[in-house]
Amino acid sequence: MRKRFLSLTIAPVLCTAMLTLNLSAPILGAGAVSGESSHTQEEIVYDGQNTGVLHTNIKLPASSEYGLNVIDVIEFDLSDRNLTVEAINSGTYLNSQKTVTSAVGDFNDAHDGKTVLAATNGDLWMTAVHSNSAVNTGGTFAVPRGMLIIDGEIWSTPQIGNENLEATNDEKGSTTPPKYAFGMTADYQPIVGIPNASIVIRNTSQNKTVTADGLNRLPADNSLIVYNYRVANSRALADACEVEIELDSDVFRHGATLSGTVKAVYPSGQGGTAEISRNRIVLTARGTRLSTINSFRVGDQISIDCSITSTSNQELWQNCVQAVGGHMPILINGAVSTQFTGTGRWPYTLIGYTNEGTVMMTTVDGRQSSYSVGIQERHLADFCRELGYNSVFWFDGGGSTTLVTVEDDGEYVVRNSPSDGSPRAVINSIAVCWNDTPRGAQGALDYIIEPVSFNPLSMDFPQAMAAAFNTPNAASASFQEGNVLRLTSVTNTNDAYISFDFSTAEKKVNTSEYKYIVLRLRTPETVRSGVFQMFLCAGGITAPNPSYTKNFQMTRDGEYHTYILDLTNQSGWSGNLNSIRLDFFDGNSNAGDYVEISQFGFAKTAAEAEMLKASYESGNTHQWDEGIVTTEPGYGKEGVKTYTCTHCGATKTEAVPALPGLLGDVNGDGMINGVDSGLLLQYLAEWEVEIDQTAADVNGDGMINGIDSGLLLQYLAEWFEEFPAA
Ligand SMILES: [Zn+2]
Repeated sequence: MRKRFLSLTIAPVLCTAMLTLNLSAPILGAGAVSGESSHTQEEIVYDGQNTGVLHTNIKLPASSEYGLNVIDVIEFDLSDRNLTVEAINSGTYLNSQKTVTSAVGDFNDAHDGKTVLAATNGDLWMTAVHSNSAVNTGGTFAVPRGMLIIDGEIWSTPQIGNENLEATNDEKGSTTPPKYAFGMTADYQPIVGIPNASIVIRNTSQNKTVTADGLNRLPADNSLIVYNYRVANSRALADACEVEIELDSDVFRHGATLSGTVKAVYPSGQGGTAEISRNRIVLTARGTRLSTINSFRVGDQISIDCSITSTSNQELWQNCVQAVGGHMPILINGAVSTQFTGTGRWPYTLIGYTNEGTVMMTTVDGRQSSYSVGIQERHLADFCRELGYNSVFWFDGGGSTTLVTVEDDGEYVVRNSPSDGSPRAVINSIAVCWNDTPRGAQGALDYIIEPVSFNPLSMDFPQAMAAAFNTPNAASASFQEGNVLRLTSVTNTNDAYISFDFSTAEKKVNTSEYKYIVLRLRTPETVRSGVFQMFLCAGGITAPNPSYTKNFQMTRDGEYHTYILDLTNQSGWSGNLNSIRLDFFDGNSNAGDYVEISQFGFAKTAAEAEMLKASYESGNTHQWDEGIVTTEPGYGKEGVKTYTCTHCGATKTEAVPALPGLLGDVNGDGMINGVDSGLLLQYLAEWEVEIDQTAADVNGDGMINGIDSGLLLQYLAEWFEEFPAA
């Protein structure tokens, strides 16, 4: 599916390297980009050794679909145990800034046995808006936009909703879109997703528990922020209440519990005076959050629990030791991210993983009319697919876009052409690193999955459903815990909508059969309009048309309600369903207005619609039958039970426990030894002997024959530890 280029000059070198590492290692090399005029590759060689890290340079002429562009790609395979991915700080503090080359030099100095082979800039940073009284930190205080984890330590949680920043409308406000990040687990698995951290503060002297809104974020109004030594000093305003706590440890990581004592309290009006030092953190509360800590007193005992959270792949994120945030994902599991609706043309810095599970870092130069102009945002997803990405995340771009690689002699060279004319000092970086001592094995990459195809007759909305949403206008779709779809208006508008495409569904929805739509949703009291409008495109109607719409009135109370829409007399409701455009507030919405849809389905009759409604109200998307065992369990081998939905035909499977017994224990005495192989040979020679037939069929092919006795003898000779399946 993916075109790979491997130049003849590099191929012999790479093959040699891979044979010593992993016979099944994927072939590296960014895919060909449409219209490219040049595609060259070289392996990074450092200190005389091949590193297995490939640098590809791609040039696109002005005549190409993407315009005149120069692209650099670094690709590597993390099953290679000498390689790691590292998040790199730019100095002592979260808000320090350095060029990538300078930060990489510091990193190498501080890490014996590790050498950065290639690095790019990381997150963009957010600066408090001085003119805005809501956040006036009295100086430049920059924080990364997203989560930053370095060596397991959480330096900052992601941007919070009410930070008021130099940001566009869709980046601020209380319904800020989820903040994605690129991460690396302790098992060297790359991941793109939405990490956050929960920081729960218990004042055990007062029996009071409060949850912080963020770690080392801007001191936003109506927020409770925790600051530790990763920022130089408290950024609170005078109106904040501040609490200084001395702790046994001030390092925030997943699973940490920090304990200590309140040392000073500054009530609202005296905020901005608390001091941060090692093992002394500060809680800062403003506005509606003042009451969370203003009763704290000197001497109170404090215990703080920290854990990483995520709406998807939470276990992987909790195992993450590096994470860097930035703009937004472009592809998730091959599907275009619904957050990705921009129209700009920029230099980019990208990182993600391919369908083969290798990692690629990419820079695209821009803002240089005779050299490289940058790629239109609307072409970026296609471009990333051509390079071979499965999931890819956009860090900072613009003048920050920088790629450096190491030379054989240890010097660093800037490989791209930063649009400022020289590399910019940035807030953090990400690197692929050579480790002199090989590290542990890479974990399974089985979370890298293709987008789900969905059963349209009754749906909920896991993240992978993002692939079915397209052509958003002033709208975003995001996927909440419990497979809930959240549609958000991203600006004040009279035209927020997004389309839901049925063309990739597992089956067609024949509208001459299915006359009812059933959906369950909630929307808050505060939204501007309570009218939900759908543009129905069925049969020959392939584009939204005002003549073929269905409206209904939502109850605006923040509670879930289930609606049945009768389409028996609906104009244009014939033929197979193509798409439905969701104008979720009939076009009239303020930035941040949202609807959350938990289920959506179709019914043939009013009675069936009522059944579906009852099912949704009891929390079930499907109506599972009793289930049947589709694979029988064996000795040491689980079986499979399959359930089918009586409404839509969807299926789900469940494991059936393995039978108690030992494969190869032919006489059933609890041991596998020569007695068993002897007995099996007698049985095959048709002696009158009793055997356990399930135990004798060691390869599970349903037959007992010479293959089984051969395998049993090999097992006893310790050729293998587990019987191979047939
Ligand atoms: Zn179903």
